Amino acid sequence: MSAISASLREAVRQRAGDRCEYCQLSQEFQVATFPVDHIVPVSRAGLTELANLALACPSCNARKWKHVEAPDPETSAMAPLFNPRTHQWADHFRWSGTDLVRMEPITAIGRASVSFLELNSEQHLAIRALLHILGLHPPAARV
Ligand SMILES: [Zn+2]
Repeated sequence: MSAISASLREAVRQRAGDRCEYCQLSQEFQVATFPVDHIVPVSRAGLTELANLALACPSCNARKWKHVEAPDPETSAMAPLFNPRTHQWADHFRWSGTDLVRMEPITAIGRASVSFLELNSEQHLAIRALLHILGLHPPAARV
């Protein structure tokens, strides 16, 4: 793992609005500090620069690991994982219209990411449901 300076880490955190850029979970109510993910891993020559870094919760960071693509569960074809720097969240996901806590994929990239990163794990759904009761979920759309 290549070293990420404190100032670069802070720039990533601020740009992300303190949210995991994959599952959208806020760091605000977590005990653990969210790690910074190399979107293209160092092992694949990904650079330690703002354009290749994303804030990721420990769960998403661990599942993503060195992967950049995963099977689309609908077609079994490989699809890129969501890239917070080159993809727009709303182009690939939406919050379920029925319960607002489930992340619904709307593209192959979305389906591969929800499935592989387990963005609708029981823990994710429980935390989102509690935050929804508190009026803190879903997060405001970001530009
Ligand atoms: Zn996450």
